[in-house]
Amino acid sequence: MSLLWRPAYVGIGSNLDSPRERVLEAIERMKALAATRLEIRSPLYLTRPLGPQDQPDFVNAVAGLLTQLSARDLLGGLLGIEQNMGRDRRERWGPRIIDLDLLWMVGAAIDEPGLTVPHPGVSTRNFVLYPLADIAPLIKIPGLGALLDLKRDAGGDGISVLE
Ligand code: ADP
Ligand code: MG
Repeated sequence: MSLLWRPAYVGIGSNLDSPRERVLEAIERMKALAATRLEIRSPLYLTRPLGPQDQPDFVNAVAGLLTQLSARDLLGGLLGIEQNMGRDRRERWGPRIIDLDLLWMVGAAIDEPGLTVPHPGVSTRNFVLYPLADIAPLIKIPGLGALLDLKRDAGGDGISVLE
């Protein structure tokens, strides 16, 4: 932890157990993270699942935080919220009650066991790029370029604004 407040963006997804409510619940829970403030959230999007198609559509959003935590401690807090909300990790790409991904943190280019920032999914997944571009259109992804270019390249297949 440092005294510096750093911007960080968290991707949120759910496709089980009233996904819209679960996404909003996760955002509420992020407000209670230590040394962290929720500054903004994107609109909610309805998106088709990645991987197996025999599962419900997802609700996705992105939250913008200011935090004094390190990336690792912030991820620990996010995984704790997943656990408290009953996340079950058995099936890869499977349905999930809540998924919280640390997408981007200012100055962070980390590739360690259990912690990759920016999150590898940021560059191609429109359900991340669209809500992230709504609240942080000017950020750059190290090694990949401007967010708005990535968003344009990803296209809008299977994604619509829910609210
Ligand atoms: P996914 O989000 O890719 O579907 P999971 O949510 O099951 O997969 O996450 C698997 C693991 O990914 C987590 O236990 C976590 O340690 C690791 N991980 C690495 N970097 C990140 C990150 N930036 N955000 C979230 N999880 C991450
Ligand atoms: Mg995840």
